[in-house]
Amino acid sequence: MSHSIPLQRSCPLCKQKDTVTLSQNHVQCNADGCRFDVQFGCPLCYTDLQPENFSEAGFRCPGCKMDIALRKIQYLIENSLVVDHDMRCRLCNGPTLHRPDANLGHRCFHFPKCSGQAGLFGQAQESFVFLDFETTGLEPSKEHIIEIGALKIDEDGYEHIFQHFIKPPKPVGAHITQITGITDEMLENAPPLEEVMKAFIAFIGNAKIVAHNAEFDIPWLITSAMRTGETLQNNPVICTLKWARRAKEPRASLGILTKKYKITHANAHRALADACSTRELFLIFENQYAAERMDETLEIYKAFCEKLLQH
Ligand SMILES: [Zn+2]
Ligand SMILES: [Zn+2]
Ligand SMILES: [Zn+2]
Repeated sequence: MSHSIPLQRSCPLCKQKDTVTLSQNHVQCNADGCRFDVQFGCPLCYTDLQPENFSEAGFRCPGCKMDIALRKIQYLIENSLVVDHDMRCRLCNGPTLHRPDANLGHRCFHFPKCSGQAGLFGQAQESFVFLDFETTGLEPSKEHIIEIGALKIDEDGYEHIFQHFIKPPKPVGAHITQITGITDEMLENAPPLEEVMKAFIAFIGNAKIVAHNAEFDIPWLITSAMRTGETLQNNPVICTLKWARRAKEPRASLGILTKKYKITHANAHRALADACSTRELFLIFENQYAAERMDETLEIYKAFCEKLLQH
């Protein structure tokens, strides 16, 4: 009965990747010689869990009697989410989840059962990737990506995070360090573009891509794929900057809009922080109906990107 689920997290003790698993009430590292092994209790009431509380799919808490799927536990751990008992779901009054360090707002603990989150995306089962790049400059033909941050929402409403530094072939300029806080030292041991792009394109899959200023981010995505020989699908693209302009927002930068809509925007100009803020903004636009969402596709940027690389 005790089957183990691999977790997309590196081991906090030995730092290795792909060695941590979840099995019943244990999270443990299976690397040779590593002794990382912690037990967790019910995330809702903190009651200790025993092996007999578990079935294949999850557990029934002996304290609060809630049935909780192992996939939910996996999701909490992989995304560093915390349960907030003070902020309640507007629909079911259940506790909420959030990630304080990544600008992710509160959402219902009980999604996708409770439509507190699923309802935000309507009935259609859509998958989205909110992405942002930090780069050494503005022109994809001359400059380089140094960080990719992305947040994926899958068809069931679960979030997945992609966050990687990339080692550029030249040092990062002082003004870029000033804007982003990213230094050459931070990039020293980062993998090259080829390695990260391969993983990133697999991460995106056929999801709809959302960016705040797609005209900046999408050419970076396409030219990087072209350079590394990776193939992108013709994904739909949604630009929240264009959307804001259609909704007649007087000023549409991410910084201004997050302030206006009271979205937490710590670590501005770091890729994952900006991607998460874009996601919160997307939810607000989706709910206020000030303007229709407009889906483009990657295709319309491709010819332009081919030209960019010819120079
Ligand atoms: Zn370990
Ligand atoms: Zn409980
Ligand atoms: Zn709810």
